[in-house]
Amino acid sequence: MSGAWPKAWKTSTGGLSERADTVLIADRVSKSYATPRGDLRILTDVSLSLERGAAIAIMGPSGSGKSTLLYILGALDTPSSGSVSLDGADPFGLDEAAQAAFRNRHIGFVFQDHSLLPQCSVLENVLSPTLVAPAAERAGREDEARARALLEQVGLGDRLEHRPAELSGGEKQRAALARALIRNPVLLLCDEPTGNLDRASADTVADLLLELHAARQTILIVVTHSAALAGKFPVRYEMTGGTPVRQEA
Ligand code: ADP
Ligand code: MG
Repeated sequence: MSGAWPKAWKTSTGGLSERADTVLIADRVSKSYATPRGDLRILTDVSLSLERGAAIAIMGPSGSGKSTLLYILGALDTPSSGSVSLDGADPFGLDEAAQAAFRNRHIGFVFQDHSLLPQCSVLENVLSPTLVAPAAERAGREDEARARALLEQVGLGDRLEHRPAELSGGEKQRAALARALIRNPVLLLCDEPTGNLDRASADTVADLLLELHAARQTILIVVTHSAALAGKFPVRYEMTGGTPVRQEA
């Protein structure tokens, strides 16, 4: 299976994330669930093509398939039909371990619930995605310096040793954002990242998200039912009949 990988995917450092021409392509992705009353169709022929630097918001009411789509694009869920590729590589063609490594290396996630490890400090949480690599490989990477710099950027430079329970909701999401970026992913996927926050904290997190995106030129996809969050994005889609439809500016 791994023989099918383009060369860039085999390198644990460099490669994909440094390439300028990276694209995410979804080609006629559909998703349905078998139920006693027949197939329940969630996504219908979703086709998307996003270049590095793209930032889009996908809106839609609860139950319209936003999370399902995001998880398929991030290879956390599988489509019933259709394909997804990131720079030409098909994550669904990989075995489970290779797929996990692929996500760890190339994709960052931020969820509505921060999902920080409660027993770990903020710094340890941000470092956690780096720990899957063997120690020898980590040795020269200066992950901790990067984690500290990222936490500084999200305004948590003086909260490194706090546990998640000792942070406000907005601070937890900012820590989760730093964690999502620690491996310098090419694709950043956010599922209702401000859904649990008050308006002021939501605004801060949203602005930070766009600021960090602008500096890093990831492909950023946010799914949300919040018009305030979506309104900050240059390109917006609305889930309509199981597929995101681009809205006029
Ligand atoms: P959104 O994020 O827009 O609120 P979701 O993607 O979470 O929507 O869910 C879309 C639809 O898929 C919902 O109607 C939900 O009930 C259905 N769904 C999600 N997971 C399953 C499952 N495992 N089995 C059956 N239906 C599911
Ligand atoms: Mg959802």
